[in-house]
Amino acid sequence: MSRIFLSKADVTEVEERYVLDAVRSGWVAPLGPHVDAFEAEIAARVGVQSALALSSGTAALHLALLGVGAGPGTVVVVPSMTFAASANAVAYTGASCVFVDAQSSDGNVDPHLLLEALDTLRREGATVAAVMSVDLFGRCADYANIVDALDERGIPLIEDAAEALGASHRGKPAGSFGQAAALSFNGNKIITTSGGGMLLSDDGDLMERARYLSTQARQPVPWYEHTDIGYNYRLSNLLAALGRAQLTRLDDMIARRRAIRSAYVEGLGDLPGVRFLGADDPADTGGDNCWLSCLVLDPDVTSTTPDLLIKSLDAADIEARYLWKPMHAQPVFASSRAFVTGTSDRLFATGVTLPSGSILTDDDVDRVISTARATLGRS
Ligand SMILES: *Cc1c(COP(=O)(O)O)cnc(C)c1O
Repeated sequence: MSRIFLSKADVTEVEERYVLDAVRSGWVAPLGPHVDAFEAEIAARVGVQSALALSSGTAALHLALLGVGAGPGTVVVVPSMTFAASANAVAYTGASCVFVDAQSSDGNVDPHLLLEALDTLRREGATVAAVMSVDLFGRCADYANIVDALDERGIPLIEDAAEALGASHRGKPAGSFGQAAALSFNGNKIITTSGGGMLLSDDGDLMERARYLSTQARQPVPWYEHTDIGYNYRLSNLLAALGRAQLTRLDDMIARRRAIRSAYVEGLGDLPGVRFLGADDPADTGGDNCWLSCLVLDPDVTSTTPDLLIKSLDAADIEARYLWKPMHAQPVFASSRAFVTGTSDRLFATGVTLPSGSILTDDDVDRVISTARATLGRS
């Protein structure tokens, strides 16, 4: 039996064909026709005016934050329950992170606490450059309770949609909610370029500035002239070809991840003390791309801990992991301001992400379920 990974890249002959085309075309360079086409295809898919292909999702977040004026002396409000890249990008700009806790149902930012935090910061005289939302594990944040409230306060929204390509909230695609949004094409994301990302926005000025900064901030003169510090953040043509191939298969890959989520809910959801993140309300899960399926254990009901479950799955050659450890609990952000209710700490202490990749076979999923059942049934 081979090891079952959490979210392994799903690559077929389609990807081979696209990459071979890019190699044979001679565009083995940063930029090229596949980059332009990939940008146009992603922009059309998400329904935004323009897209900038970059070397990572982190780079996309960094440029989005610079585009709304994040910098020294400003603060950016970030969900505490996220991958470190969200907060690291804020630190790159010199702005300070202020963390806000999660809601228990799906781990996304608690919109009421978010507004409370903003009003507190305002009262204290802080300059809030932006709010960053994160579409956690492929499920959109509660934008119905966020977007208008930020508009009223005149605060830009940056959407970290790194995990959420193909997801939607009330019919509107992930990546289209903020003044700018970031996608990731890292190896374990919903589609991959092995490493890469995309900045999305309808704001022409922001995108023009981001494009300029992403190529070492070169002035439009015949020699190398620079008046700003730039970055080397663009995506290569070869990797964009891989991304285009993956994009042709996105809907199938999401359908597969959703089927895996349903199988887990059906196969494990009946066990006492077990629930699935974001799956409380079946009528409301339609927009989730199901990037990762996360099981949450109620310690009042089951004595199985994440540690025990992860170890027993590992003993059966199955990779499972903890949820993101909250940023307010990370040593590197220990001095950052945080609005904390205890929810994300609790999710971290009780949650496990299960193998969720579209490459998993039905037999793989059955093996995960029977192994997890054996452990969970014991307690
Ligand atoms: C993966 C991820 C990123 C970073 O994307 P990279 O392409 O790896 O730089 C940012 N935010 C979240 C929430 C992510 O999951």
